[in-house]
Amino acid sequence: MTATTLEKATVTDKAATVEFRGLCREFGPTVALDGLDLTVQPGEFLALLGPSGCGKTTALRMLAGFEHPDSGEVLVDGEDVTHVPAHRRDAGMVFQSYSLFPHLSALDNVAFGLRMRKVRTAERRSRAAELLELVGLADKGERFPHQLSGGQQQRVALARALALRPRVLLLDEPLSALDAKVRLTLREEIRRLQQELGITTLFVTHDQEEALSVADRVAVMRAGRLEQCAAPAELYGRPATAFVAEFVGTMSRIPGRLFQGAVDILGQRLPVDGEAPAATEVDVLVRPEAVDVTADENGDACITATAFLGAATRLTVRLADGTEVKSDLPTHEAVRLGAGAAVRLSLPERPVLVVERTG
Ligand code: ATP
Repeated sequence: MTATTLEKATVTDKAATVEFRGLCREFGPTVALDGLDLTVQPGEFLALLGPSGCGKTTALRMLAGFEHPDSGEVLVDGEDVTHVPAHRRDAGMVFQSYSLFPHLSALDNVAFGLRMRKVRTAERRSRAAELLELVGLADKGERFPHQLSGGQQQRVALARALALRPRVLLLDEPLSALDAKVRLTLREEIRRLQQELGITTLFVTHDQEEALSVADRVAVMRAGRLEQCAAPAELYGRPATAFVAEFVGTMSRIPGRLFQGAVDILGQRLPVDGEAPAATEVDVLVRPEAVDVTADENGDACITATAFLGAATRLTVRLADGTEVKSDLPTHEAVRLGAGAAVRLSLPERPVLVVERTG
C-alpha cells in the first residue's frame, strides 16, 4: 500500500464511537459474553485480545449485526443499533479466511457491495479501482482470487470492506492465515491505512504481540468479560490483574514474603506496586527484562537453558526451590553465562507486582 491520493472522505465520512453495554450471550450451556462493557473512541484502533473462546468474535459479530445479545446494547454514535439488521449497520468486515467470491475479479469483488446498492456501473468501477489503489493493488483488478497471493487476497477483502464507506472497520483475525513475514508487513500497512483514514477499527486477535504492536488500546477479555482496556505500554507495565500480567508478555512468578507492606524476595526487600494481597506467602510477578543475572560460584540458582533472540538472549534460571525464572540479558552480556552456570538473581529497587500464591 503506497501513498494514496484518495481523500479521507472518499472512504469514511466520520469516525464513530462504539459502545458495548452489558452484552450477554449464551449458546446453550456456553456463556460467550457475560456482561461486556467497552467503549471505542472515534478513530481509535482497538484490539480485542484474549484466549480462545473468551468471546472476542461474538462481540465483533454483534457490532456487525450477525449476532444478537440476550441482553445488553450496542451503540454507534449514541444510537442503539442492537436490533438493526446487518445490512443497515455501516460496518465493513474482514475475516480470517479471505472470503472473496472466486468467480469475480478483484475489481468486481470490491465493487460487489456497490452493485447491491445499485450504484451505476461506471461509478462503482471507478470507486473500486480507487480502493484497489489504496491497498496497493491498482494493477491487479482483473485477476481472480486464485491468481492472487494470500496477502493480496486479504488486501482485496480490505478494499471491499471499505467500499461502502463504513462507519466502523471490523477485522476478525485477518492475518492469521498468512505466513509470518506477510503478516508483519500487512499489519503495519493496515495500521497506516487506518491512521490515514481515521476510521474507528476493532481488531480481533489472540496474538498479544500483534495487538500490542498496532493498537491504540488493547481490550483484554476473559470468559466473556473485559479484564482491562489500556494503551499497550500501560497494559504491559501496569497490568490491572494477575491474568493480564501473565497473558500479556512473559511474566515469571517468584515466591516472596509480605511483611509490613514490603516484600522479601531474592534476598532483597522491595516495595509493593498497588494493592498487596492479605496473605503473607505471595508470588511476585516479574518481567524478564527486570531480572538481572550475575555469575556467582556460591549462587544457589542455576541456568537451565538459553535462547538467542537477537539483541537479547533469554535465560531460564532455576532457583533452589525449583522455581523457573526468565531473564532477558543483552546478548553481549549473556555470552558469558552458559547453561549449567551457577548464578545470582537480583531485581531493580522498584515497586513490584504482588499476587496471592497459587499452587
Ligand atoms: P477464538 O479466538 O478461538 O476465535 P473467541 O474469543 O473469538 O475465540 P468466540 O468465537 O466469541 O470466542 O466464542 C465464545 C464461546 O462461544 C466459545 O466457547 C464458542 O465455542 C461459543 N460459540 C460461539 N458461537 C457459537 C455458536 N454459534 N453456537 C454455539 N457456541 C458458540
